[in-house]
Amino acid sequence: MPLKLIIHGAAGRMGREVVNAAASSPDFQIVGAVTRPGSPSLGLDAGVIAGVGPLGVPITDDLEAALKAGDVALDFSNPTAAVELATRAAAVGLPHVIGTTGLSPEQLGAIREGAARSPVLIAANLSPGINLLARILPEVARALGDEYDVELIEAHHRHKKDAPSGTAILLGDAVASALGRSLTEVERHGRHGISPRQPGEIGVHAIRGGGIAGEHTVLFIGEGEQVELSHQAFSRRTFALGALRAARFIAQQPPGLYTMQDVLK
Ligand code: NAD
Repeated sequence: MPLKLIIHGAAGRMGREVVNAAASSPDFQIVGAVTRPGSPSLGLDAGVIAGVGPLGVPITDDLEAALKAGDVALDFSNPTAAVELATRAAAVGLPHVIGTTGLSPEQLGAIREGAARSPVLIAANLSPGINLLARILPEVARALGDEYDVELIEAHHRHKKDAPSGTAILLGDAVASALGRSLTEVERHGRHGISPRQPGEIGVHAIRGGGIAGEHTVLFIGEGEQVELSHQAFSRRTFALGALRAARFIAQQPPGLYTMQDVLK
């Protein structure tokens, strides 16, 4: 039986990509496509705006009704809306995946609280490749040690709202904790004027422009060499396919908090 899927933020860039990927997968049946109240997309067919033809699923702003019809929900909206989805999904024990980034510690806390009642997977980046990178980075960081300076560069399309990207934070955290540091204490965003590098700092640099789907590079720079680990997403398709993989996984789990590392295991 295909999983009944609800997409929250269905009219957005990622939402449409997920509709597109799910429509061609035998594992899913899209039963709900939710957007914000007042959106010009209300009432339109989710498949039509995603470019796959009519699916018989009109875009709605009635989140509560949509949640009743599904087995699993996928969120790509904004931080306030993501917390609303997570709260309502937790109240009815519905498995959900939160792909929205830029969540404050309070918003993350609210989503984590719901994990006591429903399975929830939070992933700032749903691509398998990035999550593999996050897994191997601590080993690289520990092997090279404090002698190597760490700089992180990320690049995204001109419409991205948050900076640095949630993925840059994920990767920076992986390196910082492997080196016994706290990213929030050692991160350095850009440099300007007289600002020499301080021992232990991790530089984080955000590039924004055009249609870049997502690029992340972690540099380990020693006195005589540089190690560079890079990941490039060709399009949003990789996040959509990863999101569906995460949805398949979370639908089978007991209540609790999960990440993409659990999916890759
Ligand atoms: P977008 O602005 O194109 O789409 C967001 C959609 O959410 C819009 O259509 C908006 O109308 C809708 N929305 C706003 N309020 C809502 C509400 N109350 N209920 C339902 N829908 C609502 O943005 P996007 O590029 O699709 O990105 C969405 C989020 O996903 C961002 O936080 C982005 O950083 C994140 N993202 C995550 C990954 C990942 O792998 N985790 C990948 C890409 C993007």
